[in-house]
Amino acid sequence: MKIKDLYDIKKTVISLEIFPPKIDSPVETVFKTLDELKDIKPDFISVTYGAGGKAKDRTIEIASKIKNDYKIESLAHLTCISATKEEIKSNFIEMKAGNIENILAMRGDLPENPDFEFPNPLQYEFAADLIKEVREEESFSIGAACYPEGHVECESKVKDIKYLKNKVEMGAEFLISQLFFDNEIFYRFMESLDLAGIEVPVSAGIMPVLNKNQIIRMIKLAGCSIPPRFQRIIDRYEHNPAALKEAGEAYAIEQIIDLMAFGVRGIHLYTMNKPDTAKRIIGNIENIRRLQD
Ligand code: FAD
Repeated sequence: MKIKDLYDIKKTVISLEIFPPKIDSPVETVFKTLDELKDIKPDFISVTYGAGGKAKDRTIEIASKIKNDYKIESLAHLTCISATKEEIKSNFIEMKAGNIENILAMRGDLPENPDFEFPNPLQYEFAADLIKEVREEESFSIGAACYPEGHVECESKVKDIKYLKNKVEMGAEFLISQLFFDNEIFYRFMESLDLAGIEVPVSAGIMPVLNKNQIIRMIKLAGCSIPPRFQRIIDRYEHNPAALKEAGEAYAIEQIIDLMAFGVRGIHLYTMNKPDTAKRIIGNIENIRRLQD
């Protein structure tokens, strides 16, 4: 099923994100995670795409298995900054063979290695270039990434929204947001989308924080701000991992309940391959979701 159609039939689309195991670990480890996640019955599961394309085959293999064996809709992430046109075309062929109907089309992070060799000449500069090509295939529902606090590289939020609108005009049919910890920032972002005439559904990205290093990594990578209410939790429990995990999950649940009351079209849970956390969070919001549908 095309994910864009899911937003028409569900009041709140609930999705989970998983990542493929490292290339030197057996792929089966992720299937253990999926065995546990399947009982939650998410509306779709997305599979990340390794930066630089290293875990490419695994993304398609796992997304295909989610769809065909677990009978859950899947979304395959795809990045283009380091890809050639041939590589992207071969991805499309493999995805179609694997029965994959949905692609999250992104540029990808710029490699940290200064000696990284990009295709010469560069074949894709921005996500919009990839989105245009996916649309030409006429086989996939297309999602794109969006950033409630602005993308870390962008000089202004206004420009970021302008580029986001371009992604939608090129063919993005739904958006999934970067994680955030302050719902008010997300609500202001939704207003900006309204003003810009961006009308496609947006899923809010929520990451339950489970340990302090993860928070530090996320602030660096995603540039997201920490509201005082959440900072207090981190400060109080940073040396007590069990308590921090409990509080992190509870904070995510509260965030989601507020987002559902706001009328968000979807919740995308960055589950970090942790089925227990996903189960606890979805278990807590499932009743509200059922009662509102
Ligand atoms: P773009 O939309 O191309 O934007 C990149 C930057 O360029 C932004 O600053 C934008 O404002 C600017 N820009 C866009 N168009 C123009 C233009 N015409 N002129 C000038 N500037 C422009 N990364 C992975 O490697 N693998 C994953 O699986 C993955 N999954 C993700 C899932 C989600 C939900 C999100 C939010 C991010 C994910 N990322 C992933 C990270 C993503 O690849 C990075 O954030 C990346 O740096 C930007 O990708 P993009 O598609 O948003 O880029």
